Amino acid sequence: ATDTVDSAALLARRTRLLGPAYRTFYDTPFHPVRGEGVWLYDAQGRPFLDAYNNVASVGHSHPHVVQALARQAATLNTHTRYLHEGVLAYAERLLALLPPELGHAMFTCTGSEANDLALRIARTHTGAQGLIVTQFAYHGVTASLAEASPSLGKLVKIGPNVRTIPAPDSYRQDPDSLGRQLAEGVRAAIADLQAHGQQAAALLVDTVFSSDGICTAPPGFLQEAVQAIRAAGGVFIADEVQPGFGRTGESMWGFARHGVVPDIVTLGKPMGNGHPVAGLAVRPEVMAAFGRECRYFNTFGGNPVSMAVASAVLDVIEGEGLQANALAVGHYLREQLRQLAQRHEAIGDVRGAGLFIGLELVADRAQRTPDAALTARVVNGLRQRQVLLSATGEQASALKIRPPLVFSRTHADQLVEALDAVLTEAVAG
Ligand code: PMP
Repeated sequence: ATDTVDSAALLARRTRLLGPAYRTFYDTPFHPVRGEGVWLYDAQGRPFLDAYNNVASVGHSHPHVVQALARQAATLNTHTRYLHEGVLAYAERLLALLPPELGHAMFTCTGSEANDLALRIARTHTGAQGLIVTQFAYHGVTASLAEASPSLGKLVKIGPNVRTIPAPDSYRQDPDSLGRQLAEGVRAAIADLQAHGQQAAALLVDTVFSSDGICTAPPGFLQEAVQAIRAAGGVFIADEVQPGFGRTGESMWGFARHGVVPDIVTLGKPMGNGHPVAGLAVRPEVMAAFGRECRYFNTFGGNPVSMAVASAVLDVIEGEGLQANALAVGHYLREQLRQLAQRHEAIGDVRGAGLFIGLELVADRAQRTPDAALTARVVNGLRQRQVLLSATGEQASALKIRPPLVFSRTHADQLVEALDAVLTEAVAG
């Protein structure tokens, strides 16, 4: 009860101070005060299993990352117009993890800025303005990206140069035609831009289609869409803000499972484990025109502290074998969830790659009818049982399971056990 009173008071204060645009998760907002590994703790010291946070990817408050931050902050932090070893060492390390075609790295503070810069580079390179995104995508907060983020809902007007295309849906589409249909969407969008006197500058997609409801199969389905945008003179921008840095298990990057090499790759969230560092990698030939015609200066982007943090995050991913862990535990968790589906009619589909998992809840299995109301009850029921996750997709009917990569089989079992209990209650209630 104290918890509810405290939450209500904090929420009222938050609305008064921060204004009306913010939202919180859950019927009862959650108020953590400390984090460690896969756990968040409230003021009473109760542990909550974090099955949602892909920012704290190497685990909350990882000591190696915290020490790197503190050490560099105590030594030097400046803007990025001075020479510094840190940014170069990190750029070398990052580029070595990407296909060799991507020769330059640039740094920002947020994924939004990375996508915004990618868009400017693509538009300068192609001389075109058109941008193609999927129909429930999210790509960022800037004006140029909010107008290309239909998941923001009715309050956002899709930009006049932006076209949305149907997102892939491995649950409802024939796997053999999924790639073809996506590419047809791209070609139709290009044609529509041309009918309005525009050319396509870029196809921008989150390579696991996180906000479209998560779609990772069949591997390779992105290829034809990438060919379609290039055939029209546009570039392919892979938004790796969600899947990047090992989460999908079999590779460091979501695009890799499709066997494509993007023209630009944008990075964010897990790159700094919570510290605001983001960036992009780009093919030099795509970057050239922007370098001639524009200049780039980002006060904080690529500063010594951010680079020390980002480098420490890579140390942990490599040192603790987190990509392999994402692969193994992700596989195990999907298997457990599929077994759970044998006992719960409401589970229509379990999908994903590594530790990026979608579990779709349906009102009718045969019809595959999305059940947003049940999904909301399950998300809130799990929160009451101290397991944190959320929902995704245009119908908000898929659980989005995306824990820190230090998630173990024991954590997976705890999640499945809680989900079993909550599904039993939620369906009965
Ligand atoms: N792209 C994708 C796919 C994202 O999910 C997000 C954030 N949710 C962004 C870009 C924007 O990143 P940021 O919030 O760091 O600006």
